[in-house]
This record gives sequence, C-alpha cells and structure tokens, in this order.
Amino acid sequence: MPPGWVHETIDLIAYGRIYRPVHQNKDAESQRIPGLCHRQVNHEYYQKYLKDWDFNTPFPDNRKNLVQSLNETKGPVAAEELMASDGHDYFDKLWDQFTKIKRDYSEGFFAWLLYNPQVLECWADVDVIEGRIGYTIDGQKVWEKSPETITDYKRLHRDVSRHHIGRLRKVIDRYSDKWAQDFLFRVNPEING
Ligand SMILES: [Zn+2]
Repeated sequence: MPPGWVHETIDLIAYGRIYRPVHQNKDAESQRIPGLCHRQVNHEYYQKYLKDWDFNTPFPDNRKNLVQSLNETKGPVAAEELMASDGHDYFDKLWDQFTKIKRDYSEGFFAWLLYNPQVLECWADVDVIEGRIGYTIDGQKVWEKSPETITDYKRLHRDVSRHHIGRLRKVIDRYSDKWAQDFLFRVNPEING
C-alpha cells in the first residue's frame, strides 16, 4: 500500500490539508492484517471499484452529489474528509497496478514536491510557508488564510526527512531536473525554450 505520507501529500496538493486521522484510521487495519486484505476494512470505495467507478470515471455524479449533500448537512470539513477518503481508495487502487520502479518514482516525486514549497505555491495554489490556499473565483485568484496548512506541512516534511528521504534520495537526484523543468513548463509554458 502507498505509505501514509503519500496520501497526505496528495491531500496537501488537493486541499491544502493532510487529513492524517482519515488516512491513519483507514489503514489502521494494516497493522493487524498486512497486505491487500486490510482493504476489506474501512476501504468501502476501494471495494466498489468496477461496480460504482473505474479509472475513466473515478468520481461519478452520484458520488459528487453525496459530497455535496454532506457539505450541506455536516459542513465543508466532513465533505472534504469524504473526498480525502475516496481519493485514498482511488490511489490505493492505482498503486496496486504500479511496478516497484513506478512506486519509487512516485514517492520520489512527492518527496521532491515537499522540498520545493515554491512549486506547491505556484502549481498547487498551496502556500505552506505563509499558510494560504489559493482559489480562482471568476478568473481572479483569491488567497484564503489557512494557518493549519503550515502545521500540516511541517509535520509532513519532518516525517519524510526523518524516515524516507535516505531511501528516496537516489530517485530524487536522478529525476529532479526533469521534474523541475516539467513544472516550470506547466506553470508557464513560455519558459520552455
Ligand atoms: Zn489504504
């Protein structure tokens, strides 16, 4: 299964928050039952693969409606937690299909992102230094304060530095120039000479 910090980094990119309790809770069973079987518990959306969703339509309309109604009845945090949970299951399913090399590459990529906060800011609209999340409303970029983002980012960065960076250093050294170029190009296509 993807390491917890990978799920958290994906959420940092998508929502500006890491939703650690959501992911820890979902994968708690893996401490008891290692391997794919742990996903029989707390991975309801994962189990619905090919019944309710597939890679062409990972989040169909009825799922989006569920998020919307949760937003109305229980508020935006509950709605975002459901999205984080569904995204977790989606990425678990994707991870199943990755080769070892692709898994290492993905981990290296996410770690590299965590070491490049300026990329998170200009590409993902998440400012982890000042604690702001960017939204585009009517074509205008609006930055909303999110002090929790700073704490979340520090926590995540510390975990990766302590436990994972040694193993991933080779991948990062090997690919970081290419990743940086890809990003600069995507953020501003005119940069590409
Ligand atoms: Zn999982």
